[in-house]
Amino acid sequence: MERPRSLPEHSQLIKGIAGIRTQGQAALLTGPGSPQLRSSACLDCAELPVPQRAPLKASVQSDQTAGGNIGMDSVGDTLQRLRETFSAGRTRPAEFRATQLKGLGRFLRDNKQLLQEALARDLRKPDFESEVSEFSMAQHEIHLALRNLRAWMKDEKVPRSLGTQLDRAFIRKEPFGLVLIIVPWNYPLNLSLVPLVGALAAGNCVVLKPSEISKNMEQVLAEVLPRYLDQSCFAMVLGGPEETGQLLEHRFDYIFFTGSPRVGRIVMTAAAKHLTPVTLELGGKNPCYVDDNCDPETVANRVAFFRYFNTGQTCVAPDYVLCSPEMQERLLPALQSTIARFFGEDPQSSPNLGRIINDKHFQRLQGLLGCGRVAIGGQSDQSDRYIAPTVLVDVQETEPVMQEEIFGPILPIVNVRSLDEAIDFINRREKPLALYAFSKSSEVVKQVLARTSSGGFCGNDGFMHVSLASLPFGGVGASGMGGYHGKFSFDTFSHHRACLLRSQGMEKVYSIRYPPYTPRNLRMLLVAMETRSCSCTLL
Ligand code: NAD
Repeated sequence: MERPRSLPEHSQLIKGIAGIRTQGQAALLTGPGSPQLRSSACLDCAELPVPQRAPLKASVQSDQTAGGNIGMDSVGDTLQRLRETFSAGRTRPAEFRATQLKGLGRFLRDNKQLLQEALARDLRKPDFESEVSEFSMAQHEIHLALRNLRAWMKDEKVPRSLGTQLDRAFIRKEPFGLVLIIVPWNYPLNLSLVPLVGALAAGNCVVLKPSEISKNMEQVLAEVLPRYLDQSCFAMVLGGPEETGQLLEHRFDYIFFTGSPRVGRIVMTAAAKHLTPVTLELGGKNPCYVDDNCDPETVANRVAFFRYFNTGQTCVAPDYVLCSPEMQERLLPALQSTIARFFGEDPQSSPNLGRIINDKHFQRLQGLLGCGRVAIGGQSDQSDRYIAPTVLVDVQETEPVMQEEIFGPILPIVNVRSLDEAIDFINRREKPLALYAFSKSSEVVKQVLARTSSGGFCGNDGFMHVSLASLPFGGVGASGMGGYHGKFSFDTFSHHRACLLRSQGMEKVYSIRYPPYTPRNLRMLLVAMETRSCSCTLL
């Protein structure tokens, strides 16, 4: 694998797009077929020293009239164009949707190296982790959607009442229209493509707003992705908080947001102005209860793997461990040897550990290292944005590390005296995105499951539940609303339209509901309104 480039080189690479943003306007990048002209930003992008870059020059285009930047007027024009596509019914046929999904599959295959390099430059993500958590999940979602598209699109028959036995009652899965997808930086490919699969499969037009923080991925997506999708139904808008704020002033038919609870509130407030429905995929602190009845080595392997995966920058990572002081004594040496086995005696030189996304997050995490007492790790190096896999003990609930989502390779252990105390600790806080319980006793795991609430739950492992497209992925309460993955994505991006089709016949029978009202007609009507699951025709 080519080594990630140094940070000065890195910042050179992204200067084109950074230049776009400083103007305080969203840059809208469209693909071939657009009448817009190539901008100066495009020339900068062409200098990227990545093998596949050179032929991509022509795919980055923007509005010449705005001096190389596209202002919000142009965003408005593009949204209008997408709306017209939708109104014309172009995205509705299964063939059109399948073509887009196949395009996404080709995008992943054709540009694998480029994408892998972008992940390595942004996060020093090991290829193994990119493969498992970015490529394979996105590819799997594409295959699943392609295999099931027609079945998912089918009208869903529903049980009828006695009085509707002669009618057709069904749920039609209708695309919402124009969908906005806003993406964070930690899994910048997965969290762009997986929602995109659902939105396109459901027949929507889509505006994708990648994270400005994972700059290299933002740039690759902006330059390359539009080439694989029909330009009449897909557009990308780039920018940070200011530009996204401007974008959110426009009306969308659905907003799918992944990011922090703080920005989730901003998005929901903006959506409320237009009564736009939202899915909010947010973060928070995910508790991990470790019972005394556990094998410490197994727990250490599993907790450390999922805590330090992507350098801890994972929304579903176990955020802190809750266990007894006795279990802590057994767990610490196990964690110590696991960390050494995973990353060697000097984790900074390990190819299996990534880096913190930027200086701001590095400094935030460095601050958290001062909480409690460092039991394992604790080293950091700003010049490399390196934070060692760390375990903290003697942590107080009131310390920052227990007040905010950690989102880095730091694992505090908080002591509790019993299962009841652990459950009470969990339930006194916001509902988490994920919750983990380790015990050899299935009764203990079941109790944690039964007496708490969270977006997802996994017994005796880390975020394995997220790997199943047959399970919905999403939060509850402060960790978000709505879910996706697999068919859940298709359903999330579809309006479930309630339909009843009846004929003009049988008027005599149906007239029992009309005035003048009589007690006899009321009795008959109430019987007729009872829902029956059998499909036999009784009238
Ligand atoms: P973030 O909320 O700062 O940013 C997410 C997106 O919102 C970005 O595209 C960003 O440009 C945009 N944004 C930022 N500030 C904005 C503002 N003021 N107005 C409008 N848009 C704005 O999140 P992040 O730092 O990119 O990601 C980390 C957070 O995301 C963590 O809290 C993590 O738990 C969460 N997350 C959740 C999931 C999930 O599936 N539930 C997945 C990954 C990350």
